[in-house]
Amino acid sequence: MPRNTGKFAIVTGASTGIGYELAKCCAADGFDLLIAADEPEIHRAADDFRKLGVRVEAIEADLATTKGVDELYAATAGRAVDALLANAGIGLGGAFLDQDFRDVRHVIDTNITGTVYLAQKIGIDMRSRGEGRILFTGSIAGFTPGSFSAAYNGTKAVIDSFSFALRNELKDTGVTVTCLMPGATETEFFERAGMLDTKVGQSEKDDAADVAKAGYEAMMAGEGDVVAGFKNKVMSAAALLTPSDTLAEQHRKKAEPGSAYKQ
Ligand code: NAP
Repeated sequence: MPRNTGKFAIVTGASTGIGYELAKCCAADGFDLLIAADEPEIHRAADDFRKLGVRVEAIEADLATTKGVDELYAATAGRAVDALLANAGIGLGGAFLDQDFRDVRHVIDTNITGTVYLAQKIGIDMRSRGEGRILFTGSIAGFTPGSFSAAYNGTKAVIDSFSFALRNELKDTGVTVTCLMPGATETEFFERAGMLDTKVGQSEKDDAADVAKAGYEAMMAGEGDVVAGFKNKVMSAAALLTPSDTLAEQHRKKAEPGSAYKQ
C-alpha cells in the first residue's frame, strides 16, 4: 500500500493507454487523483487506482469543449492541484480533403483548445501558490509534417511548442512544465484514428507503461521534455536535420491508408 502524501493530481484521458498508465504512476506515488475522460470507462479505471490506496474521483467530461473543462475544474472543489497531466488526445488518419471537418475540428478542440484552456485555469492557481507541475503529452509527431494525419501532427506541433513556451514563462515561479513526446505506442489510438490499415498502425510499438514512466519521472524531475525510447530519440534528432518535404514523404509511406499492405 503506498503512503498517501496528501498530494493531488489531475490526469486527463486516464481511461486507457498512456493516460491510464500516467495515473497509475501518480497513484503508486501517493497522489490522490481527479481523472477525466469522455466515456464511462473512466469509472472502471478509477476502481483500479483506488486499489493503490489513494482517493480517486472520476468524471466524464468532453474536454474538447470549454464546458467540459469547466466541469473538470469545478470538480477540484478548490483543492490545490500539485500536478496536472494534460494527456487527453485523439488522432485522425486519412487524406485531409476527404476527412469530415467535424472530425478535424474535434481533434483540434481536444488536443489544443481544451488542453491549453485547462492548463491556463490550473496554471493560474499554481502560479499564485508558487508551486506545481504540468505535464503535457505532446508527440514526436510534432516534429514531422504528417501526410495523411496532417491535422493531428499539427496539433502536436502546437503542444510541443506551447509546452516549452509556457515553461519559459513560468521559469521563476516554482511551476515546472514538461512535455512527454512519445513515438508510436501500443494503445487504442491508431484504431480510434482509423489508421489500422497503415504501416505505422501495424508496426511494433512502444509499451504504454514504459512511455508513461518516462513522462512521469521527467515531470517529477522538472525536466523540459522527454522523448520516450531510444529509437524515437534518434528519429526526433534526425527530424531536426531533415528537410520538411522529405519528412512529409517519409510520413506518407507509413501513414497513407492501405500502406500496411504495400512493400
Ligand atoms: P487512447 O488509448 O485512445 O487514450 C486517449 C484518452 O484520451 C482516453 O482516455 C480518451 O477517453 C481521452 N479522450 C479523448 N478525447 C477526449 C475528449 N474529447 N474528452 C475527454 N477525454 C478524451 O490513446 P493514447 O495513445 O493513450 O493517447 C494519449 C495521448 O498520447 C494523446 O494526447 C495522444 O495524442 C498522445 N500520443 C499517442 C501516441 C501513440 O502512438 N499512441 C504517440 C504520441 C502521442 P475517451 O475514450 O473517454 O474519449
